[in-house]
Amino acid sequence: MTAGPLTLTVLGCDGSYPGPGGASSGYLVQYQGASVWLDAGSGTFANLQRYVAIEDLDAVVITHEHVDHWSDLEHLAVAARYVVVRDDVPLYCEPDLVSAMRTASAATVLAWSRIGPGSKLDIGGMTFTFSRTDHPVNTLAVRVDAGGRSLGYSADSGPEWGLAQLGPGLDLALCEATFLSEREDALGFHMSAKQAGATARAAGVAKLVITHLWPRTDRRAAEEEAAASFGGPVHVASIGDRFEV
Ligand SMILES: [Zn+2]
Ligand SMILES: [Zn+2]
Repeated sequence: MTAGPLTLTVLGCDGSYPGPGGASSGYLVQYQGASVWLDAGSGTFANLQRYVAIEDLDAVVITHEHVDHWSDLEHLAVAARYVVVRDDVPLYCEPDLVSAMRTASAATVLAWSRIGPGSKLDIGGMTFTFSRTDHPVNTLAVRVDAGGRSLGYSADSGPEWGLAQLGPGLDLALCEATFLSEREDALGFHMSAKQAGATARAAGVAKLVITHLWPRTDRRAAEEEAAASFGGPVHVASIGDRFEV
């Protein structure tokens, strides 16, 4: 176990489906040698193994049952059953996902625990807390506190929920920004880049990273929209990005 700051590594950040060469939602959160895979969209299991061996994964946290956030759990299950041979990988998610996966092999080799908006998890010196977002299925935004630093992740949400509901003092917010503001009225269960910037500003976050852009959303335009409403520079997530929170 090595000492170190709270870090966030982007394993995949494409919204709703992976674009060419991309990966769906998935992040690696690490602190002092502990590693948590936060969302497990397609392509993220491959990228995860660039940073942590399957044997050393401490837990998986899944925000909701939409397939772009968990489909690679199936690959973890196969690797855990036949290759790595461990049946103790803790998996934290809502009951909806548990039921969706009951017939899958993942259900028998991962150590399921149900979480909800009031849950609090302590994993390797990190404290995880949750907030129900504005999305068509039960979805949990995530706050991670460790070593005096705080990370917030919106998961998927429309604008009726805001980052402030994760509590004050977020040093880094990872917020979904699926499309540009021109699409806001048509799809209210995701945020535009403009809305992502606005909710981050309202929550007083120090640093904003936008993610979950649809593969055809213009990254430059999204960055400009979000920066204008945030009132400061904004980073657009890419695979391999690593942030000290
Ligand atoms: Zn999604
Ligand atoms: Zn979703």
